[in-house]
Amino acid sequence: MTDQNTQHPLAMLDSTRAFIAAPRRMLIDGEWRESETGETIDVINPADASVLCRVPGASERDVDLAVRAARRAFDDSAWSRMKPTDRERLLLRAADAIEAHAREFAELEALDNGKSAAVAEALDVSMAAQCFRYMAGWATKIEGSTVDASIPYSPSNAYFGYTRKEAVGVVGAIIPWNFPLLMAAWKLAPALAAGCTVVLKPAEDTPLSALRLGELLQETGFPAGVVNIITGYGRTAGAALAKHPGLDKIAFTGSTPTGKAIGHAALDNMTRMSLELGGKSPVIVLPDVDIERAAEGVANAIFFNSGQVCTAGSRVYVHEKVFDRVMERVAAIADSMKLGPGLDPSTQIGPLVSARQLDRVLGYIDAGHAEGARAIAGGARGDGTGFFVKPTVLVDTDHSMRVVREEIFGPVLVAMRFSDTDAVVKQANDTPYGLGASIWSNDLAQVHKLIPRIKAGTVWVNCHSLLDNAVPFGGFKQSGFGRELGRAALDMYTETKSVLINHA
Ligand code: ADP
Repeated sequence: MTDQNTQHPLAMLDSTRAFIAAPRRMLIDGEWRESETGETIDVINPADASVLCRVPGASERDVDLAVRAARRAFDDSAWSRMKPTDRERLLLRAADAIEAHAREFAELEALDNGKSAAVAEALDVSMAAQCFRYMAGWATKIEGSTVDASIPYSPSNAYFGYTRKEAVGVVGAIIPWNFPLLMAAWKLAPALAAGCTVVLKPAEDTPLSALRLGELLQETGFPAGVVNIITGYGRTAGAALAKHPGLDKIAFTGSTPTGKAIGHAALDNMTRMSLELGGKSPVIVLPDVDIERAAEGVANAIFFNSGQVCTAGSRVYVHEKVFDRVMERVAAIADSMKLGPGLDPSTQIGPLVSARQLDRVLGYIDAGHAEGARAIAGGARGDGTGFFVKPTVLVDTDHSMRVVREEIFGPVLVAMRFSDTDAVVKQANDTPYGLGASIWSNDLAQVHKLIPRIKAGTVWVNCHSLLDNAVPFGGFKQSGFGRELGRAALDMYTETKSVLINHA
């Protein structure tokens, strides 16, 4: 195990340095503003706990201004008169602009979230650009249907019916800190493709890439008020947005408890909602696997993004015939991973996002030990002032333990053995969550039998947490409702209007 922190300066672009050199402002109605209360939030570098810069802490009044601006932009601006092809063109330009600034975005994510800049550039940033490009295509393909009506109690008239898919209106979007730019893209791109306007609130821990995106969207030519970006705490700005009666829809990604609070607030105004929430995703390893390939897959499923992934494969069930060999190899991979700051190209595991998250994850590791679990890798904090946790593998675990039942959202894997397929299905589904799952095997018959029995929004086979803009994503059970990405995303940002015409 090698630990490292940011005692040495790491190279970054001049543009990245310039972006964090001054306090940032938030975007309301096409203008960059302070909070009207003057409140600010320190943005912390999780690799060394230093302050990177400051952003405004939006108040309820700031949120109200942003929602009103979005409403004006939706009701009577050039945006509402824009043709689908023009929206498509703007979204395509936004994709190009993200790509043109890929390295800068990756560095901002590394500084702000802690993740590897190299991985962020290859994954987060390219997927975000691709999301805008993919959704651009849908702007011109939003269609209703035609209906030949035969209304029995009005036989002498002739009716023609059709449906229109109309933009739902003003969208409030609240996003988490684990994939800041990508989550902003997942919300903005489909909403804008459908013709909505948006008030986006990034997480207080990671506001920088969303603010940089706001600048690029302005340069791209989105009219004032179409995209508003407010920075602020969840309990103040987030809560004010969720309960604002001026919203038509709220789109949220984050933890299940926060999602429930937002859902309750939204329901009071009958605000449409989509919620992408937590997970405790099972990884099932069948006995026919190649040990090395399965072990690498299991390790990636949990340690990618330091385990801060809603679909992280945080519970692994390995067939007893291969359990010892697979888990020994997973532990060796965990021990070999290099901890370090995201800007260091050799880093394999970055810090957790915040001191709060560090305490939370270490608390779970302690709870695991107290309940009888045994760490065969990691199990402790990394060295240095940053928020590092060593990649941890816990064995001797069972379903009575908190580490098995609750979402940890860190690099902590719990491993259990199984001998019988029915039993493993029961265990995999023994969770309030249902976001993702993976099965590792080349036994097609077994795999196809398992897929329909797993209660999860996505089942991966011989891979884990892979996403594609064309494949819908979302959760069963307490992992939320609604589907992002794919054609399904458009349904979340449109209302169906039915029209009946009497043409007798
Ligand atoms: P975490 O606890 O790990 O920060 P959350 O799900 O609470 O995860 O945070 C995800 C997003 O939800 C962030 O943008 C946060 O500011 C926001 N948020 C937190 N609490 C609330 C709330 N009560 N109402 C609205 N948004 C909230």
